[in-house]
Amino acid sequence: MGIRDVVARIFEEISEAVFPSNIYCIKCGSLIDRSRIYALCDRCVREMHWITGGTCDCCGKALPDTYRGVGPDGRRLCYDCMMRDHSFTKGWSCLSYGLHERELMMDIKYNGKGYIASKMGDVMFDRMETLIDAAREGDSSAFPSIDVIIPVPVSGKRMVKRGYNQSELMARQFLRRWKQHLHNYATGDAPGISVPRLEPHVLVRQKATVMLRSLNPEERRLALHDAFAVNPDLRGRIEGKNILLIDDIYTTGATADACSKVLLEEGAAAVYLLTLCSGGNRKPKDE
Ligand SMILES: [Zn+2]
Ligand SMILES: [Zn+2]
Repeated sequence: MGIRDVVARIFEEISEAVFPSNIYCIKCGSLIDRSRIYALCDRCVREMHWITGGTCDCCGKALPDTYRGVGPDGRRLCYDCMMRDHSFTKGWSCLSYGLHERELMMDIKYNGKGYIASKMGDVMFDRMETLIDAAREGDSSAFPSIDVIIPVPVSGKRMVKRGYNQSELMARQFLRRWKQHLHNYATGDAPGISVPRLEPHVLVRQKATVMLRSLNPEERRLALHDAFAVNPDLRGRIEGKNILLIDDIYTTGATADACSKVLLEEGAAAVYLLTLCSGGNRKPKDE
């Protein structure tokens, strides 16, 4: 065995140590082979709630086939988007937030498993791939031309505690896949779409917000008032740009709206939204 082979083998062993997700299912920990998609075992893939059917034309959450909600402009809207206009133009989502999605998110956010967030960036790209291709072929209604990708920031305190921003890890992998995809596509200059830039520092979280989970939609909006700001030194990077905001979980859209509002006020042309998980289409309680 030559020195080259030895080095190659060492590298292989190192990468195996760095990416343990290729050996165990990232969700349940059962042993899997490397070919498994998203490093999930077959059972976990089956049990998760992939969004493959009809969705809300505004926020992107899944809608059951039997649901007939249509907004005044003819768009198919979830209960929540019927009640309230959003600051972002349109959103997409990959998974409906259920028990299994919750387990994954808990591992990412509280158990230090940032590598799962990167895998979820693959999920996000796969969700968008056909739409991105359609746009590239000239169908601008499928997906807009995006200039900048911005992950929803976490507070400095949380960043220190967790060591990473899960939405940024998702965004990085999402963009990596996008670049790879275009590279493979390589059919010269298509008119449709170019690869956006990642800007993880333009949007900043000014205050750590309380847990939003227990609050109703209006309380959420109040709690998030002034929570986000645009770094004045980097303002030029969003002026006149189409932005794709990336977040892990979407429920009523309070966070996405707070971010979009600030970005638009600071000169962004439009804000679109891609989330990993989104809540169900719940009928609002009588208030
Ligand atoms: Zn599993
Ligand atoms: Zn909606």
